[in-house]
Formats: sequence, structure tokens, C-alpha cells
Amino acid sequence: MERSLIIIKPDALQRGLVGEITKRLEQKGLKLTAMKMTRLSEDVIAEHYAHLADKPFFPAIKAFMSSTPVVVQIWEGFEVIEAIRIIAGITKARGADAGTIRGDLAMSYQNNVIHASDTVENAEIEVKRFFSEDEIFEYDKTDFAHVYDDNERKG
Ligand code: ADP
Repeated sequence: MERSLIIIKPDALQRGLVGEITKRLEQKGLKLTAMKMTRLSEDVIAEHYAHLADKPFFPAIKAFMSSTPVVVQIWEGFEVIEAIRIIAGITKARGADAGTIRGDLAMSYQNNVIHASDTVENAEIEVKRFFSEDEIFEYDKTDFAHVYDDNERKG
């Protein structure tokens, strides 16, 4: 099954939304396999947002993402990367669909409460960026028998 890397950003931590965001992913039926609180170094932020290095707002993103610790999580599920991107909503939170995490909980382009991996390739890179193998847990999530059909569960 796929894995997706989530960052609950500093604005969510400040606004007391860690539980709400985690709850939405749990209720969707996803499997939490790793979670920790950490403060992102300048190097990690630069690597994680390398695709934005030329943007005028890049220094502001670096300051924002290091302003408090963040909560990082790995969620597992069938086609979970796409599923979480849909639940997260588009980048510009005030334009995100109602019902999405950003659409319901945020108003800003930058302060949009959550990062979610966007492709299978990036998810694998991001999982390794934030977690060592011994921080990622394997267990049988028994409700997968009800969340998925038999073929999906093996996917
Ligand atoms: P996403 O987080 O939706 O995958 P990007 O990878 O394009 O989006 O951008 C990474 C993060 O950089 C965004 O989540 C947001 O916090 C910030 N960001 C992106 N574009 C802008 C912008 N135009 N103005 C301010 N912040 C931005």
C-alpha cells in the first residue's frame, strides 16, 4: 500500500488544530504508521521546498515553517496520496473547497495548515526525509477489512 507524508504546519499547532486534522485522516479510514513532533532545520526546509527556491515568498516560507515545531505523520492506505490531497484541498486555502481541511480550517496561501505528499515518488523521498525506518510501525489495522474490498486491501 502507498504511504503519504503529512506535516501539520506551525499555524495549525498555534491554532490548536492538530487533533482536528489528525481526526479527519483517521475518520477517512487511513492507517497511521508514524508520528512525531520536530522542529525543522533550515536545511530540511530548503530541501523540502526546493521547488520554490526561486519564488519571492521563499524566505517567508522558511521563517514560517521554522517558527514552531511541527507534527509529522505517515499515513498508509490504498491510493492514499491522491486521497489525502483531495482531503487537504488546494494550496490557496481561502479558495479551497468546503469540506476539505484547508477549505474548512484556513484562509491563507502560506498558512494553510497541512503539507501532503503529491506523488508516489515524492512521498517515498519525504518519508525518508523525516523518519528513520525504526520510527515507522507495522501492524495489522483490523478495520481495513471493512474500509476496503478484498482486492483494494491487497493493493
Ligand atoms: P502544496 O503545499 O499545496 O503542495 P506547493 O508545493 O506549491 O503547494 O507550495 C508549498 C507551500 O508553499 C504551500 O503549501 C504554501 O504554504 C506555500 N506557498 C505556495 N505558493 C505560495 C504563494 N503564492 N504565496 C505564499 N505561500 C505560498
